[in-house]
Amino acid sequence: MRRSPPSTVSATSWGSSAGEDGAGAAPVIDRQPRDLPLDAHLHTDLSPDSDVAIDVYAAAALERGIAELAITDHVDFEPGAPAFGYATFEDRERVVRRAAERWGPRGVAIRFGAELTYDRSWEADIRAHLARHAYDFTIGSVHDRVSSPYHPGKVRGWVAGRSLREILAPAFDEVEAAARSGLFDALGHLDVVKRYVHPFVTKEVLAGAPELYEPILRALVESGTALEINTSGLRHPVSETYPSAATVARFRELGGRAITIGSDAHRAGQFGWALVDGYRTAIDSGFAELAFRRGGARVVIEVPTAVLAGPNGPGGHSL
Ligand SMILES: [Zn+2]
Ligand SMILES: [Zn+2]
Repeated sequence: MRRSPPSTVSATSWGSSAGEDGAGAAPVIDRQPRDLPLDAHLHTDLSPDSDVAIDVYAAAALERGIAELAITDHVDFEPGAPAFGYATFEDRERVVRRAAERWGPRGVAIRFGAELTYDRSWEADIRAHLARHAYDFTIGSVHDRVSSPYHPGKVRGWVAGRSLREILAPAFDEVEAAARSGLFDALGHLDVVKRYVHPFVTKEVLAGAPELYEPILRALVESGTALEINTSGLRHPVSETYPSAATVARFRELGGRAITIGSDAHRAGQFGWALVDGYRTAIDSGFAELAFRRGGARVVIEVPTAVLAGPNGPGGHSL
């Protein structure tokens, strides 16, 4: 998830329709996690749309018993996109690795990751970047192009008279290609487009068209890329993870075994937000463990059974 800095032309960003904590966003209440193994999607002030110093996340993780964090600041490849040229690889790596050295001995493992904006038109640039630079963990995400049909000022006109497949195509075609590329350890917020077509296309309508998700899920399975359960949707008006629990369950039916879970925080108060719902979604879908690649190695992290004993009962959802 991203939010455009207001000073740039990239106010066309998908994220600009409702800022992470701006108008239209759900109020941040206490949905903070406790005693969970991982938050795999976090933005620090090395992303243009976050103001959080890395130590703020680390201190929150220590306090709340979150054992591992993946710092996944934005990397953009399109001139004019918010994170294009925003922070160098060297700066990001230095800040994150030094924090890892400070916090590791205290019990918080910090991984150096990135969220790379994917589009087929710059896939070669991503491939070259990843060949030159070593991350612990990479998320490939489809965000807006600098000019996007999902801009708040355009989306009503975009959906008018189009089929659901046509409406979603600019996003889903790229998401499928990202999943198929094999470039990434995880695919970020698979259907975040539902945030941008809301309320013109509802989550219920999307839930009624699982066939549109099928090629993406199959591509993930075939490439071994992890499906991310991104809980930021639970703080957006769409009030659903990206993707939904039904989609996560279908991924498993198709043979998917690699998943991660992340809060996609951009603000201190969003750290780990609703993460427990993500874990419950994983459990409800038959996943007893998270599994993904980290620095080329396959990592398996058991989902704690304590998640099931939350205030809303076994497998319950607190929204
Ligand atoms: Zn993100
Ligand atoms: Zn994103």
